[in-house]
Amino acid sequence: MTSTLPNDNIKNFDDQITNKLISEIIRDRIKNSGSRFSANDNISDFINPGELVILEKEVASRVKDLLKSLVIDVENDHNTQETAERVSKMYLNEVFKGRYHEQPKVTSFPNDKNLDEIYTVGPISVRSACSHHLVPILGECWIGIKPGKKVIGLSKFARVSDWVFSRPHIQEEAVMILADEIEKLCEPKGLGIIVKAQHYCMKWRGVKEPNTSMINSVVRGDFRHDLSLKQEFFELVKQQSATNNY
Ligand SMILES: [Zn+2]
Repeated sequence: MTSTLPNDNIKNFDDQITNKLISEIIRDRIKNSGSRFSANDNISDFINPGELVILEKEVASRVKDLLKSLVIDVENDHNTQETAERVSKMYLNEVFKGRYHEQPKVTSFPNDKNLDEIYTVGPISVRSACSHHLVPILGECWIGIKPGKKVIGLSKFARVSDWVFSRPHIQEEAVMILADEIEKLCEPKGLGIIVKAQHYCMKWRGVKEPNTSMINSVVRGDFRHDLSLKQEFFELVKQQSATNNY
């Protein structure tokens, strides 16, 4: 499929390979592998070294078109001169980096001492965006672990959370995806996650409710089957969050 190329800058890059945009090339690879590429999926496996810079140029060109369609004078308005490039960089390398970049390296260690007491980590900052409006979701998250055969460092929970949340999401799915990733990394006997966040699609637009937040949780393994363990998890989180208001 050929498409109208927004500017020569992109065309030069793509002509070296095919007549396709880099987004089309990446999309074709994903489709051929039968994988998903929803907003909250990581697609870094399908992006070759050097291609992200080309994608950055394509996205910038599209953002520029968006600004033009919004009838903003991008040629003469000094405030919006570099906006398209800034927005593109921000999407690909910051706020949605969890889609385009690989998971940060997390080393796990054997649980030699057979630790089996539960512990919680939090609050961890939640910085995400809603898939419906692409406006911020900001809040906090707590993770509870009953260790299994492997353990990971405390700071790694924050790194993995940041990577998972830095994608367009709906909160209900974000917490499940984070739970899946943590299970893969340390195979805990029990896992609990609580996310409390404010959605700017409710604060900034729509019903404009400034103080409403959403809390959801997931419990797996022993936290699901053992009621006292589950209660201990929620109690620990309550203590950890006592000094924080969201
Ligand atoms: Zn929304």
